[in-house]
Amino acid sequence: MTSQLRSEVAAAARRLADAGLLIGTAGNVSARDPETGHVAVTGTGVVLAGCRPEDVTVVDSDRSIVAGTLVPTSELDLHLAVLSSGAAGAVVHTHAPAATAVACVRDELPVLHYQQILLGGEIRVAPYATFGTPELAAHVVEALRDRSAALMANHGAVAHGTTLDKAVDNALLLEWCCRLFLDAASLGTPRVLDQEHQRAVVEAAIARDYGTPRTAQPSKEHR
Ligand SMILES: [Zn+2]
Repeated sequence: MTSQLRSEVAAAARRLADAGLLIGTAGNVSARDPETGHVAVTGTGVVLAGCRPEDVTVVDSDRSIVAGTLVPTSELDLHLAVLSSGAAGAVVHTHAPAATAVACVRDELPVLHYQQILLGGEIRVAPYATFGTPELAAHVVEALRDRSAALMANHGAVAHGTTLDKAVDNALLLEWCCRLFLDAASLGTPRVLDQEHQRAVVEAAIARDYGTPRTAQPSKEHR
């Protein structure tokens, strides 16, 4: 299980690097083993586009290394804090370009497009603190309340999910929303979807089972 989790964390890091969200050694990925509670996390200084299972270190709840040879990422506090704060089974931290740009200017990413509601709505920007500090981890946990993603002032972004795939999908969606905001704001003041619009989207999504592939019923002529 541990070796499989290390492979999956490495694959998630490569996927995020391929998408341009992890650049060089910047950013990190973690996932918790539901059986042991151990956390697999990318090592510090790893070039993430070429991340291999052996570049992923596994720590227990005391932060003792149980597998791997590399020192865990300097943002280990942040990963452990998010993983222990709620439903997260996997966490992604990036310095993705659009997310970081928004986080250098705004205090919040408003909802311009209904897809952002999948992340929980408006995305908070956690106040700045030095990288790798418990203070930064606490700010991020607070900004993530009822959300699957948060921005980090003058630093980057965090996304989580119940699985690695969901955490990666949420990180990609957050970057798409930030890019949309930057593009829209370059044309003028973006219109935002208010709470009433957002509520209507949630109701419509529930009614239509949005985002789930469904088998179409053949029409009468083609039966
Ligand atoms: Zn960082």
